[in-house]
Amino acid sequence: MPDTTDILSLESLQVHFPIQGGLFDRALGRPGGAVRAVDGIDLTIGRGEIVALVGESGSGKTTVGRVITKLAQPTGGKLLFEGRDMTAERGSSALRPYRHRVQMIFQDAYQALNPRHTVFDIVAEPLRSLRLVENGKQLAQRVSEALASAGLNPPGDFFARFPHELSGGQRQRVVIAGALAVRPELIVADEPVSMLDVSIRAQILQVLVDLRDKYNMALLFITHDLPLAWLIADRIAVLYLGKLVEIGSADEITFNPRHPYTVALRNATPQIGGNVGRAELPALQGEVPSAARVPKGCRFHPRCPLAFDRCKQEEPPAIEVGPRHMSACWLAK
Ligand code: SF4
Repeated sequence: MPDTTDILSLESLQVHFPIQGGLFDRALGRPGGAVRAVDGIDLTIGRGEIVALVGESGSGKTTVGRVITKLAQPTGGKLLFEGRDMTAERGSSALRPYRHRVQMIFQDAYQALNPRHTVFDIVAEPLRSLRLVENGKQLAQRVSEALASAGLNPPGDFFARFPHELSGGQRQRVVIAGALAVRPELIVADEPVSMLDVSIRAQILQVLVDLRDKYNMALLFITHDLPLAWLIADRIAVLYLGKLVEIGSADEITFNPRHPYTVALRNATPQIGGNVGRAELPALQGEVPSAARVPKGCRFHPRCPLAFDRCKQEEPPAIEVGPRHMSACWLAK
């Protein structure tokens, strides 16, 4: 039976970026504000589990991924890996074992790949920098295995190629191979298929699911696309303006959403079948407001057609609305 214990926990995670007040504010001694990119998130990921983090642009989902991969530093809360507090760990030598076990796949494969390096060198780079191989033979074997696992076969045919000689799907597979080469236990994939043709997306998603099945690897799949999240994930966490507003199994969130924001996201995607629940809800209007101006009370209230007085004053807590299904709305019961 696979080990399903939590590999990663985020506890009240916060990432606030200070902003300077204007000249006038400074003259009056008024403090500047803060961009509350991530504003108190609790999330766990089990070994071998695929969790999708879903939200519109500006919701803070990429910042969460960057904190987990230690590319950004939180300003509050904790990041625990196998129960060990990694929040304050810094420096390349202190982080080397962590970087070995937690890898990131970026959205734009073309930007993520050095155009002057061959596929072999790109995939070999983390193995060399983390000093995970002892000789050239081992290196070639690990690069070969990673390329094959990412669906680039026969691997030797790709060794000497440069990124511009590959298709978009092949480039994304090279990015995946680079992450896989170090045999991580958790991968954070930030919109890994959003720049690919629809026909290639399913193949890349299948590669990620196969890797989980084969290595019991955990995956945090960051996306703005709810149907895609439903296709790949065990659980879905919905992020709005730096806060998780709903979390539950992929089926529950997709077919029984309890938060008006999730309902709006769901109803905007007819490809998974018509309106659900509060079918009278109009389509989502406007964009996520700036994280420098988080509204008081429920942060979704300016866009919520069901908002009432209390929503403008008090922030709703996340409450259990079903088995492992939490929703942060005053109307969720
Ligand atoms: Fe809408 Fe109020 Fe629920 Fe927020 S708490 S989602 S504003 S009904």
